[in-house]
Amino acid sequence: GGIGVSDTTADDGVIDLELDRAHSARMYDYYLGGHTNFPADREAAGRAMAVFPSLLVTARANRRFMHRATRHLALGGMRQFLDVGTGIPTSPNLHEVAQEVAPESRVVYADNDPIVLAHAQALLRSHPAGRTAYAHADVTDPAALLAAPEVRETLDLERPVALSLNALLHFVPGRTRAHEIVEFLKDALPSGSTLAISHVTPDFDPEGIARLVEAYRAAGTPGQARTWEEFTRFFDGWELLEPGVTTSHRWRPDAGDEFGGVTDAEAACYAAVARKP
Ligand code: SAH
Repeated sequence: GGIGVSDTTADDGVIDLELDRAHSARMYDYYLGGHTNFPADREAAGRAMAVFPSLLVTARANRRFMHRATRHLALGGMRQFLDVGTGIPTSPNLHEVAQEVAPESRVVYADNDPIVLAHAQALLRSHPAGRTAYAHADVTDPAALLAAPEVRETLDLERPVALSLNALLHFVPGRTRAHEIVEFLKDALPSGSTLAISHVTPDFDPEGIARLVEAYRAAGTPGQARTWEEFTRFFDGWELLEPGVTTSHRWRPDAGDEFGGVTDAEAACYAAVARKP
């Protein structure tokens, strides 16, 4: 059957969206100006914006990094994309950017939030020359993620894959777990694969980011901001593409980019792309 949506727990295959509590995907949708968010999300987003007022700029600069990185990789010849922590569809989505360059591009999206699953149809409108798929999966079980039928049937993991983990790993707190997950995924991909990551950092506004992390924790979403050293370590053994590790808005900005006036403290995310030798 189709995907039913309800705000109540049910045993008939209807998805429980937990509308009574805030979800990070819906808070992010709110920052991006989307409409797939509910009162609990908007309240939590309001509290987060009260303690970190540039959050809308942060979210939008991050989203635009995803667009530029995807376009750059497609122009460089990448034709298979695996995007984990996709978020609620917000056009242009990754496949639209990749398929604008190369219509035959194959894209698999993955997220663990039922709201993203409920809206996944928007991610499945592939160019007929290519293919898209959606896997409901959790990055904290990377083996299960890579074994998902949507991944296996859409991507050839013997050939280069452009993996993206944008604004995701700061929702995997702890000293080692996020790095272990990334190493597992890196190991599973062949030479020529690429890794794009964006991630909240405390480096430019430690107090503001501490307040932001606390606002998310209070809303039920534990997280962790990471330093330049911790972020850069995700790419160990792979070759960083120019310009290396930067804040999101500084990674290969478009000429006349509307975020030209953004500061590092407002962008608040590191971003980088690397290639497996
Ligand atoms: N990558 C998109 C959206 C980022 S919002 C972008 O950068 O524009 C972060 C997303 O990560 C949310 O949709 C949230 O549901 C998802 N997420 C958080 N923890 C996750 C996990 N453990 N596994 C998979 N997805 C997760």
